[in-house]
Amino acid sequence: MVQKKLLVVGAHSADFVWRSAGAIARFVREGGEAKVVALSYGERGESGELWKEPNQTEANVKKIRHEEASLAAGHLGASFEAFDLGDYPLLPVHEDVQRLADLMRGFKPTVVLTHPDKDPFNPDHPVAHTMVQNARLLTSGAGVESGFATAPPSEFLVFEPHQPELCGFVPSVFVDITDVFEQKRKAMAEMKAQQYLQGYYAERAEHRGNHARKVTGDKQIRQAEAFMRLVPNVVGSL
Ligand SMILES: [Zn+2]
Repeated sequence: MVQKKLLVVGAHSADFVWRSAGAIARFVREGGEAKVVALSYGERGESGELWKEPNQTEANVKKIRHEEASLAAGHLGASFEAFDLGDYPLLPVHEDVQRLADLMRGFKPTVVLTHPDKDPFNPDHPVAHTMVQNARLLTSGAGVESGFATAPPSEFLVFEPHQPELCGFVPSVFVDITDVFEQKRKAMAEMKAQQYLQGYYAERAEHRGNHARKVTGDKQIRQAEAFMRLVPNVVGSL
């Protein structure tokens, strides 16, 4: 059997925590391997609290954000890697897309997870989506035999953005994260520059838990995370 491998790519170093920490922890608990890539540290646009320190520097903010994200990934059983491409704006060049494609060829993810393609409130999240989509297509040879190294096609999903309706996000998959919610809490608590989001995403998990209960009738589900599938899943039978 093929080892299940999850690759989560965020524009900023904390994005994976709010939107997919539970799914990552569940994936690892089920025997899969998970890798998180942050395209930037969110050092300029998502580290507000850290900049309140007197004499703060960009290098120090990045260092703190790297430590926080590594610890958060550790709580989930995932590895963490940062590309450090700069944020607000995130502007990847040709080589950056190649680097991500090379990483995908090496890691061979069975599932790829990133931001939706639209976000009227964030300049970097859609850029990350495009970069991941391009790298994924380069990796799989865009579905045909190619003159460059490829890896098998992966499932492709996006995680829930901050304001789903405005980002064209319609959930098609709920992951029950009840059993791993404490791990998500611990991961979120590492993100000290964005403490205001911890309560918000804990509530979101409760709301999605309610929706997942409605769909399944399973009263044991307390918390869930929502995802949208971008390519059909293929099954032997319904
Ligand atoms: Zn972000």
